[in-house]
Amino acid sequence: PVQCRNIRLSYGETEVLKDVNLDIEPGEFFALLGPSGSGKSTLLRLIAGFNRHQQGQLLIDGQDVSAKAPWERNVGMVFQSYALWPHLSVWDNVAFGLVERKAPKQVIKEKVGAALELVSLSQYAERRPSQLSGGQQQRVALARTLVIEPQVLLLDEPLSNLDKTLRVQMRQELLAMQRRLGLTTIFVTHDQEEAMTTADRMAVLDKGGVQQVGAPATLYDYPVNPFVANFVGTMN
Ligand code: ATP
Ligand code: MG
Repeated sequence: PVQCRNIRLSYGETEVLKDVNLDIEPGEFFALLGPSGSGKSTLLRLIAGFNRHQQGQLLIDGQDVSAKAPWERNVGMVFQSYALWPHLSVWDNVAFGLVERKAPKQVIKEKVGAALELVSLSQYAERRPSQLSGGQQQRVALARTLVIEPQVLLLDEPLSNLDKTLRVQMRQELLAMQRRLGLTTIFVTHDQEEAMTTADRMAVLDKGGVQQVGAPATLYDYPVNPFVANFVGTMN
């Protein structure tokens, strides 16, 4: 599990995360929902190890990882921008993390092959990112993160650049893959419908504070305050 205990994070005077408490269960597809500027990316980057909190504890599998670097956390993050290397082929983009970890050549070959298979991109291995569609690039970013076999998958609005049709299709593929691998996944979105239709449970964030945590239907039927009622009730 991933556990946030009384986490606070400020940039100077600005308090961005206020006493965040969350328990994310193993194998859960968990959505973080909230308006722009509510602290979703900050919280995700904090779990990944790119942001440091000033107070509280972050536990992964019961261990406080607050002092650990991103690569020591067994966590994989897919950024909103994909951040693919433009000069590298799809294959080399996916292999990157394994090469960096000095994995043996044969292992790299097998794992990259399997990751590309998983996202149905085996036939695109030699292409550059610029020669792919947005949805295909998204899947390369996903394969590149999955290849290092993270224990926790963090997705920061990975579908937001896609058109509606592709987004719905990718959403389903992502969910199917997550179920197949039983991968604990935290998924950031500002799209209420996306969270409602995919998440096992979700948290609604506002101004750096967790407003409510629960199953989508629970938040919809029994919002604890007007903010949650408005935010979850408004489909876009
Ligand atoms: P969006 O939906 O627009 O991506 P978000 O919920 O991901 O929003 P964050 O990126 O986590 O929001 O930002 C939360 C708040 O923290 C914002 O008010 C933002 O301006 C502030 N913030 C983020 N990064 C920094 C930084 N490096 N320095 C100062 N303030 C920051
Ligand atoms: Mg964000």
